[in-house]
Amino acid sequence: MKQLILLFVLAFTLINCKTQEHSIASNSTIEKSNKPKLVIGIIVDQMRSDYLSRFYTKYSEGGFKRLMKDGYNLKNAHFNYSSTKTGVGHASIFTGTTPENHGVLSNDWYDKQSKKMINCVGDNRYKTVGTSSNEGQKSPYRIQTTTIADQLHLAQNMNGKTIGISIKDRGAILPVGHTANAAYWFEGNDEGKWITSTYYTDKLPNWVTRFNNSNRVENYLSKPWNTYYDISTYNESTNDNNNYEQVFKGKKTPTFPYELPKLRAENNNYSLIKDIPFGNSLITDFAIEAIKNEKMGQSQFVDFLSVSFSSTDHIGHGFGVSSKETQDAYIRLDKDIERLLIFLDNEVGKDNYTLFLTADHGAAEVPQYLIDNSIPAGYVNKQELRNHIKNIAKALFNSDKIIEHISNNNIYFDKQEIKELGLNLGEAEQLMADELIEHKDIYKTVTARTLQTTDFIEGPLSLIQNSYNQKLSGDILFIYKPSTITNWYENKGGTTHGSGYNYDTHAPLIFYGNGIKKGLSHQYHPIIDIAPTLSALLGIEFPNGSTGKVIEKVLK
Ligand code: ZN
Ligand code: ZN
Repeated sequence: MKQLILLFVLAFTLINCKTQEHSIASNSTIEKSNKPKLVIGIIVDQMRSDYLSRFYTKYSEGGFKRLMKDGYNLKNAHFNYSSTKTGVGHASIFTGTTPENHGVLSNDWYDKQSKKMINCVGDNRYKTVGTSSNEGQKSPYRIQTTTIADQLHLAQNMNGKTIGISIKDRGAILPVGHTANAAYWFEGNDEGKWITSTYYTDKLPNWVTRFNNSNRVENYLSKPWNTYYDISTYNESTNDNNNYEQVFKGKKTPTFPYELPKLRAENNNYSLIKDIPFGNSLITDFAIEAIKNEKMGQSQFVDFLSVSFSSTDHIGHGFGVSSKETQDAYIRLDKDIERLLIFLDNEVGKDNYTLFLTADHGAAEVPQYLIDNSIPAGYVNKQELRNHIKNIAKALFNSDKIIEHISNNNIYFDKQEIKELGLNLGEAEQLMADELIEHKDIYKTVTARTLQTTDFIEGPLSLIQNSYNQKLSGDILFIYKPSTITNWYENKGGTTHGSGYNYDTHAPLIFYGNGIKKGLSHQYHPIIDIAPTLSALLGIEFPNGSTGKVIEKVLK
């Protein structure tokens, strides 16, 4: 009888176990089927938030407007640091934090240990794959923390594909981070090829080689660049011919049409594609081929693709915020984005992908244009500023040797010289900062010591603080007055970015697709919120240095 009862109990337990197993299995299937199969991050290099509204009437229904109408449009998103450069932007978006933690201080910065300038993705331990140049000697090792793509890999036991694409090496490499399956960027000059680094692979996949042999770049450079619509309808930008724009070598005026076949020879041959909207079309073509050939969004795992559109930055630098060239670049990018979305709908499935679109920084209006319209702006002579800083050092400490290096608005002291002169580092920093503020172009100065001991919650000093990395940064940090850029652009035309002012920090931010609500908000959000928000959507751990918050309202 005892045995019979035992048998009953055993049978009951077995049945129970099986039911439980069954319910766990079906739960995880439900969880999986709700997740996107592919996450896409679109970064538009140098896109200001106001380009969405300024050129709105010229956009088609299927591009920016589709994302704005059917996605969640965060209209008050900003970079929350002052070093608004490309490398920093790409690193901050995908790590969910600022240079204080991810360590990408700029595109290039002074390395205190080697006492040399280093590049954010430069790494000569690796070789170029695709050409015989040095353009592929790159890796993501300078990022000190993980990216959202790394976390996705970790969450899936390194399964799922993560790929970064951009004309710029840093735009391709930084987003997908340390564990990326691939990153591709474009080598111009006489090559005209997509390349990568031995960090990722020793051989280009066949589809990349086929793309490189397909004459696509050649085709884009074989016709003139004219405006997409009749130029007389471009009422949203200033006159085509003006003194605020740079002129292509081989041309006399900064005006349409641009005869690309003729301009190639004097503008580094294939590199010309970087400076025109067709560079973004080329990126779109390449991204579509990558999704197709790598079968992204087709497996049981979540894949991750970042696409960084670089030509908008080149065009913005050359022609400025209010030019016809910039307007046309965005009208054409809108068409490329529409093409990409249609492809994603068909290939991956309308409900199977989640996408976000943002920028890596904005841009200042051309300072001379502002000056001519009575708005305070200016150009800073960097050589004069350098001499000025050395003269301050001579007057204060009787030594200009104390100034070891100046770059990226950081002054680096020679610590050996400080010791030999018997100076106190904190006091020397403060004396220098107090003198430097008197310079006509300088708006704020702050010492490393202050940044280490004070927590700035808002305003310009908080933006400098987020750019400051105790291990890597200099001893005194400073910023220029509003709309003041390097005199490299003076007389030449064009503009740049790299400050903490709104024109550089205010970026578009739209979430769209699987798991995303429709909506619009004017509430402030720092760009570093993107990575934690996506982590929450995917149910994975945040990037390890992330300091952003989940934007709950965008999630279903
Ligand atoms: Zn950029
Ligand atoms: Zn730029």
